[in-house]
Amino acid sequence: MKIPILDLKPATAELRAELDAAYRRVMDSGWFLLGPELEAFEREYAANVGTTHCIGVANGLEALQLVLMARGIGPGDEVIVPAHGYIATWLAVTHVGAKPVPCECDEATYNLDAGRAAGLITPRTRALLPIHLYGQTADMTALNALAAKHGLFVLEDGAQSHGALCQGRASGALGHAAGISFYPSKNLGALADAGAVTTSDPVLADKIRHLRNYGSKVRYQNEYPGMNSRLDEMQAAFLRVKLPHLAAWNRRRRDLAARYLQGLAGVGDLVLPHVPAWAEPVWHLFVVRTGHRAALQKHLEAHGIGTQVHYPVPPHLSGAYRASGWKRGDFPLAEKLADEVLSLPIGPHHTGAQVDEVCARIREFYRK
Ligand SMILES: *Cc1c(COP(=O)(O)O)cnc(C)c1O
Repeated sequence: MKIPILDLKPATAELRAELDAAYRRVMDSGWFLLGPELEAFEREYAANVGTTHCIGVANGLEALQLVLMARGIGPGDEVIVPAHGYIATWLAVTHVGAKPVPCECDEATYNLDAGRAAGLITPRTRALLPIHLYGQTADMTALNALAAKHGLFVLEDGAQSHGALCQGRASGALGHAAGISFYPSKNLGALADAGAVTTSDPVLADKIRHLRNYGSKVRYQNEYPGMNSRLDEMQAAFLRVKLPHLAAWNRRRRDLAARYLQGLAGVGDLVLPHVPAWAEPVWHLFVVRTGHRAALQKHLEAHGIGTQVHYPVPPHLSGAYRASGWKRGDFPLAEKLADEVLSLPIGPHHTGAQVDEVCARIREFYRK
């Protein structure tokens, strides 16, 4: 049995007729940017998240960057980011000229830890930028309380958490604004790059609407030095086809995660994902930890099972931040996680039998 870590073809096959119809609708309209499909998707996605505004943009990185720009966060400012996570979150801060301040994560959930973040706040701190990593939200109750106490802005990185809940409230509506990615492999993925900002702040929403389009809402009236970061009509139309299926697809991921948690309980040195009582994750990834990662990966590969590491290099040790002077040992937990995490196959089109096979092969590995 071949079990790929990721295969996007079955999702396309499931929705083939609707995607083809969306493609034809946009092609025949002759209108490819800032049109009716984008407007409709923005309405539908805001309703799904529970914010009053959604602004479609070109990708997840620029969604985060546009929010920081709109808030006037830039040189001399600091933004607290998780030390363990994807580098895009840090790059959004770097690209507006501000300084990402890494914070070790909560060891049980791998998410930004409010207690540790509190110790990093300085007079220059402007915002908290938690990632809802692997599809589970950070503890937003604690982070929002910390932010309120210090007058900080809270920007969620919602790239991996479409549909995830924190205390029953949806990812994307848990802070002042959220940057969302619809990169093809995300829980809600377009067929190319795409992203969005969600917020219930009308002033911020209006500014981002300008900033994504050269700082202009009325043609040739440019209010701000903006970017070109638009979500095109074709991708908006595809996302409108997929959005109504998100909840069911997330349910399938949840069933598979439950199966993994059962099938791998107490096996070897595996550390399984921890889900706090207030969290309802959407399992963008199913990530285990082990001190025998390379050997386990090799064993699974030999049996046709794909795995991946999210992420092997912590951002502070990546070439992109060489000039910042961070070195090995600065963020030991992030470095340890980078050495130990392993993502197992999970997606709405994986089957229970496939998960059972992965679990059986992992148990076999630890028996040897
Ligand atoms: C995918 C991802 C991004 C970036 O999204 P793009 O659309 O690829 O720019 C940012 N943050 C996290 C946590 C991601 O997983």
